[in-house]
Amino acid sequence: MTAITWDSKLSAVAGSAASKIEKAFGYRTVGELLGHYPRRYVDKGGVSDLENLTLDEHITFVARVVRSQQKAYPDRRRGGMAYRLEVVVATEHDRLALTFFDKKKHLADWRARTIAEGSTGLFSGKVGRFRNDWQLTNPQTKIFGAGHEDEAGLALAEFDAMPDLLTIYPATSTVQSWQIQDAITLALRMIEEVPDVLPEAVRREHGLLDARQALEWIHRPDSWGEKGAAEKRLRFDEALVTQTALAQRRAVLAALAAEPRTGRPGGLLDRFDERLPFTLTDGQQQVSAQVLDDLAAGHPMHRLLQGEVGSGKTVVALRAMLRVVDSGGQAALLAPTEVLAQQHHRSIVEMLGDLAAGGMLGGDADGTQVALLTGSMGAAARRSALLDAASGTAGIVVGTHALLEDKVQFADLGLVVVDEQHRFGVEQRAALTEKAGATPPHVLVMTATPIPRTVAMTVFGDLETSTLVELPRGRAPIQTNVVPLRDQPGWIERVWARLREEVEAGRQCYVVCPRIDDTSKGSDEETAAADEGPALAAVADIAPMLETGALEGLRVGVMHGRLPADEKERTMRSFADGDIDVLVSTTVIEVGVDVGNATAMVILDADRFGVSQLHQMRGRVGRGGHPGLCLLVTNAEAGTPARERLAAVAATSDGFELSRLDLEQRREGDVLGASQSGRRSGLKLLSVIRHEEVIAQARGVAEGVVADDPALSRHPDLRHALERLRESEQADYLEKA
Ligand code: ADP
Ligand code: MG
Repeated sequence: MTAITWDSKLSAVAGSAASKIEKAFGYRTVGELLGHYPRRYVDKGGVSDLENLTLDEHITFVARVVRSQQKAYPDRRRGGMAYRLEVVVATEHDRLALTFFDKKKHLADWRARTIAEGSTGLFSGKVGRFRNDWQLTNPQTKIFGAGHEDEAGLALAEFDAMPDLLTIYPATSTVQSWQIQDAITLALRMIEEVPDVLPEAVRREHGLLDARQALEWIHRPDSWGEKGAAEKRLRFDEALVTQTALAQRRAVLAALAAEPRTGRPGGLLDRFDERLPFTLTDGQQQVSAQVLDDLAAGHPMHRLLQGEVGSGKTVVALRAMLRVVDSGGQAALLAPTEVLAQQHHRSIVEMLGDLAAGGMLGGDADGTQVALLTGSMGAAARRSALLDAASGTAGIVVGTHALLEDKVQFADLGLVVVDEQHRFGVEQRAALTEKAGATPPHVLVMTATPIPRTVAMTVFGDLETSTLVELPRGRAPIQTNVVPLRDQPGWIERVWARLREEVEAGRQCYVVCPRIDDTSKGSDEETAAADEGPALAAVADIAPMLETGALEGLRVGVMHGRLPADEKERTMRSFADGDIDVLVSTTVIEVGVDVGNATAMVILDADRFGVSQLHQMRGRVGRGGHPGLCLLVTNAEAGTPARERLAAVAATSDGFELSRLDLEQRREGDVLGASQSGRRSGLKLLSVIRHEEVIAQARGVAEGVVADDPALSRHPDLRHALERLRESEQADYLEKA
């Protein structure tokens, strides 16, 4: 048998299946294939017979397919056809019905082909009842090797030869679990050397398996203990590789020179401070001082500023921007949405007053200009903003993703502020910092979603963190109530009556809906969920309903992401000016929108939103010193997790506590952001939420390795792993662009 290496082509072990595997999973090398870990393990000893079944029991068994029939039927809810595969399987003594449902024809056909009469497989699922008979619905299925379908004896021999824990791999409609398993088994036999990223001393110290053993046991364990030990080792590897990448990035940054921005006495910053209508909180002062110190240092600042909604991060950022302008540089503020960019622009211009009218009639002689650049601006406005940025006329440029485009140039970009980090990936930050040319700018990242320490370590490991804990004085508490329509359908009338009272008292309100209109899709999850229940509240329905019904006579405005930019801007301005009483909106108002006179918010179908999102949204009210009110309207039943989440939001205003709650319930991908999750990031076994200790240990190891051997010349396998990680990050970035 010829020896192969980690980087050998996939076809060396997968033969003709290689191209299918590449197409399905993107793997090209043996190493990538070996990183395809089983999704599930099934204890062979735990295989059940089909006697004495009980309802809801989870069973796993080997059986032969004796009948398999596809039925098509009209899908009333979605329209079109749906498919049902009715299967009967038999063991030596018993028979059992299995039913598989598919909505897509190609999937249904694939299933019918795979689970064909005469084939033998492993089935696993929960026992249900249908018309007085036991039945399994959509059980997990693993059909044994192709080509043996007609010979149950052979298939059973194959079953006997399998290790004691059966592995089930993530599969697709074109590549089946057994094909992957065959290729992996072959790869494990043929591969000569398995790369080892872990220094031997560290491996011993932490009691970890050697690399080859770990790989063998993750794919072919004979016991749960072997599987666990393998996971422990491979998890450490994942943590070490990411932490090494971050340690290197930190080392590079620490070695970079940046232009120190020390400002000047009597400059814009001093004059801004003089006219600030409030005093900074202690926290704001401390963090501001930290930031100004960073700016004055000779290497680039990379700071994450965390702070509750309304904790006053913007002022801190603005002071930093003014310091940079005072030093002859420019600052860019990157916002996640148009609405937010427009609002930042508006409020910065307002706060600066004549200081923002530099070079204009009536403006301050020393003043600067604040430019706005968003994707959907008209050509003329856009040209002029581009010119102001490139010439340096604009000391501050506020914008959305549009700021990242190649066309955008700065005369001397000294500071990049990113608002609401969780919407921007690391690469986007990088794209903006590259605009500063040879000397990198300082970077300040602001987020209102508190990030747990380990996530910060993993994803934002190259950032220092500061946190604003207190809210500015005079911030009134927000009272939050759940309105359970399922138990109290009549309460919706009281909700609208309450809004009317607010408006009559001279205040303004938000009504938030999960959807724009009937055709708008939420996330996949929302759409899937929407299939089941009643239609979700949509802006396009609720606004006219209120205007002609419960809120007749009030001025109702509409706001959502699909409106043209100028209309969004106009609407937000009228709302800010008090010309709209009730703004019916989607979550576009989630982040940062700041209208002090808005005191009440009604969130319809509140159970559709995450805990942190709800907390963010309600932070929009009660900002102007008047008490805020937030009503979480829901159709969810009492006692369901959805209702418990809402109760938690109503019960506490501690964003950090809610964020922890949220993290427990969300999946990893949401936490890391799409760009950092999944196979590309190399994080398969490591959870930034659950494996805090591993991450901390790996961080220590990585620091040591990088300090001792910055180029990793004595750690070739680790170096290669990093190269692969970078390549895939690069590939990811290109794909998105
Ligand atoms: P966030 O941290 O959510 O971005 P903002 O910076 O938007 O918060 O601040 C929210 C509001 O609080 C703004 O209207 C701002 O002017 C005001 N604010 C900020 N700092 C203070 C302070 N120290 N005292 C009083 N009001 C403040
Ligand atoms: Mg903000």
